[in-house]
Amino acid sequence: MQTGLSFLKSFGVTMRRFFESYVDDAKWFFKGGFGMRYSAEALPTRQSPTEGRGIFVVQYPKERLPLPERYRGFPMLLYDEDPAQLRCVACGMCARVCPPQCIWIERATDPETGKALRAPASFHIDIGICMSCGFCAEFCPFDAIKMDNNYEIALFQGGDAFLFDKEKLSRPTSHHAEIHPTAYAEELASKKK
Ligand code: SF4
Ligand code: SF4
Repeated sequence: MQTGLSFLKSFGVTMRRFFESYVDDAKWFFKGGFGMRYSAEALPTRQSPTEGRGIFVVQYPKERLPLPERYRGFPMLLYDEDPAQLRCVACGMCARVCPPQCIWIERATDPETGKALRAPASFHIDIGICMSCGFCAEFCPFDAIKMDNNYEIALFQGGDAFLFDKEKLSRPTSHHAEIHPTAYAEELASKKK
């Protein structure tokens, strides 16, 4: 008898949560359409352990939760305007601090004089080994390497398919500014000092 009552009680909780999901969905729908229920405005309430109501499942990949600004995916190399002109000066600092040693840089040389140039001839990161620690971005003295917010990098191929070269790693600075607005503003402010 006791077991039956406990079952009914817990089933009641599940059903209440189930119906509350739709009530909450409707509330956010009337505020701004379907996209609103996973918006930055809605999530703090919906995911709150005290204010959250209902049972929520994100319909990935149709729906995605917004990533926090400090989320770290994999490294990217920044360029300001021309993709051929990376900020990187091939100092090698990132490769030295990388814990699993998955960065390889070859410095460019002047074809006429043979003198070393402040640019990488090649820059590779084995994304299959990278552990997204962010040390490379932390230590780069030129703000040339930052952590992207990418995470959907699964591939069917093995081998060197995860060995990303300069082209695959390059992103415009505007992308960095868009996904890291606070950090980017801080960088600009520190450069003005
Ligand atoms: S990304 Fe930064 S730390 Fe790495 S080699 Fe280029 S300038 Fe140096
Ligand atoms: S994020 Fe960490 S592991 Fe990945 S390349 Fe940078 S330093 Fe290496």
